Amino acid sequence: MILQAELQSLIARKDRLESSVLSVYLNVNQTEEANLNRGFETNLHSMLNELRDPAWSERDVETFNRAADRCLEQIRSYKGGAKGIVMFLDQADDFAWIRELNVTVRNSLSWGVSLHIHPLMELLRRFHNFGVVLSDHVHTRTFAVSLGEIRELKEFRAEGTTRKTRTTGTDQIWSDSRFDRRASNHVHQHLKHVVEVIEQLSKTYVFEHLVLAGPHEVATEIQRLLPQRLASSVVGLLALPFEAKPQTILESSLRLMDESTEAAGIELVEELITAASKNRKASLGMDRTLDALNQKDAWQLLYSVGFKADGGECTECSALLPVADEPCRQCRGEVRPVDDLIERTVALVLRLGGTVEPLRGKAAESLLEVGGIGLFLRFATTEVIVS
Ligand SMILES: [Zn+2]
Repeated sequence: MILQAELQSLIARKDRLESSVLSVYLNVNQTEEANLNRGFETNLHSMLNELRDPAWSERDVETFNRAADRCLEQIRSYKGGAKGIVMFLDQADDFAWIRELNVTVRNSLSWGVSLHIHPLMELLRRFHNFGVVLSDHVHTRTFAVSLGEIRELKEFRAEGTTRKTRTTGTDQIWSDSRFDRRASNHVHQHLKHVVEVIEQLSKTYVFEHLVLAGPHEVATEIQRLLPQRLASSVVGLLALPFEAKPQTILESSLRLMDESTEAAGIELVEELITAASKNRKASLGMDRTLDALNQKDAWQLLYSVGFKADGGECTECSALLPVADEPCRQCRGEVRPVDDLIERTVALVLRLGGTVEPLRGKAAESLLEVGGIGLFLRFATTEVIVS
């Protein structure tokens, strides 16, 4: 489970001046033959070697060797049980962030000045991270779902009924002091407490969405009591018995989430196209998206998963540019080529405080027809001069 705070600290890491960051996505899924008998170690070895560039300086080679050794050492001590491993190592400050995942990842290694974070963001989106609140009139269970894994967080009862508490490492936020002893209406007080709990959880976990489960009238009442931000994150209501097994809860809520994501993605693309055509707080296509980003304007980036683009980066002002063979549009500075422009764009949007929505399926197809990428803007668009 990846917490909101750690994700934010990964995003906030500054680019280095020289390459020192190794990002590793390693498929260790044992249902794949190539990974049996620790075949993933062999894969990792050859992928690390492929990264090596004959043009590197002595310093580059040395820094890379140290990172590669750390990486191999980590994988050698891996005990098994996961499907994928994500690792970010930065030699500049001996930083290491390593996570075993319950979902398969595509093998990918990169060496550079910044974390290759967007496959992780895509995974988080694709496998949905959300909270589930299963509540009847007097008792409630809460769950966090992330990367295909469900974790039961807490079970609690209304005042006046026997209360059981199960916590998993989140004791601090589960203060019972908020439990209102003067409650006359158990149900209402209980549901109000549920809302407080949801608010706290949404700050700790990476909760983009919320599923409310249990009797319909309870779920709708909780939804009504939620503050606007959280109420609008509710993707649906699930009729499930209070004793439902976590695996059942996971499967039903993932189904609900898939349906809702597909529909929401299609709607978003339509909204983006309309807004961009009216020149209202949206830009469509790589060119205009980068222009807006270079003016530090970003609200929500949409892109079709698999869409690739190369371009350039200004060596003077760091602006990202759709082409590398002309001077910078911002400052006329020299531009060097960048081969994964989407990756850099995603990182920039996140750093500007925007959000990123990788699209799949029908939504991705319709966005591809209009350039594969687009951006909702925070501020009004200013006319951009395109030379
Ligand atoms: Zn520039």
